[in-house]
Amino acid sequence: MQSKKRTPRDDAARRRRRSTVRVDRVRVASFQRRLLAWYARHGRDLPWRRTRDPYAILVSEIMLQQTQVRRVLEYYPRFLARYPTVADLAVASTPAVRESWDGLGYYRRAANLRRAAQHVAERHGGRFPADVAALRQLPGVGRYTAGAVASFAFGQDAPIVDTNAARVLARVFGPGRRRGRTARLWTLAEATLPAGRAYEFNQAIMDLGALVCRARKPTCPVCPVRRACRAFERAAARQR
Ligand code: SF4
Repeated sequence: MQSKKRTPRDDAARRRRRSTVRVDRVRVASFQRRLLAWYARHGRDLPWRRTRDPYAILVSEIMLQQTQVRRVLEYYPRFLARYPTVADLAVASTPAVRESWDGLGYYRRAANLRRAAQHVAERHGGRFPADVAALRQLPGVGRYTAGAVASFAFGQDAPIVDTNAARVLARVFGPGRRRGRTARLWTLAEATLPAGRAYEFNQAIMDLGALVCRARKPTCPVCPVRRACRAFERAAARQR
């Protein structure tokens, strides 16, 4: 029998099915409460968290792509001292920006950042757009970075999924099989975001992934969200 040809509508339906996750509301509420309480006491104090300037936040987010926090801590203040506003970066020359980035690696990020500044200057009159869709039009800005700027600078309820958040969500909620996992993680990030609290919540989940729920050797026995965590429950059941 000849197999039926797949249409774009079939593909869209398949993608929707893959991104569907069943969310346990009780688990979500427990996770939110415990995570936010922990963050209030143990959240990291980082220079880009002391500002709501979308430009400064974008600089930090682009620098943090594939680069460790301690290295960005060196470059971030220097870069902002040289280009304090989006207008300053928009008119900077390529060699000058590259020189400021020297040693941080992945120079394409610097080029994209400069192009993003030009985009904001030319198309938005120097003011950053506040919504995720418009932010995603900026060169070098993907879904995660747009969500980070929207939530950290503008307090929008925009979810984020970076490596740390993905690991925490996967362990706590167990999004299952590999296929379609990224889409399901984004659905989970959206479903677990407490309304009006994205600013703290997004930082909290990244900090938990960086400090407690690390890729190797997570410190589960002292984890603040262990009572809401499926991975912890499964490990405890195996030991019984
Ligand atoms: S209990 Fe363990 S696996 Fe679960 S979130 Fe905490 S550190 Fe991660």
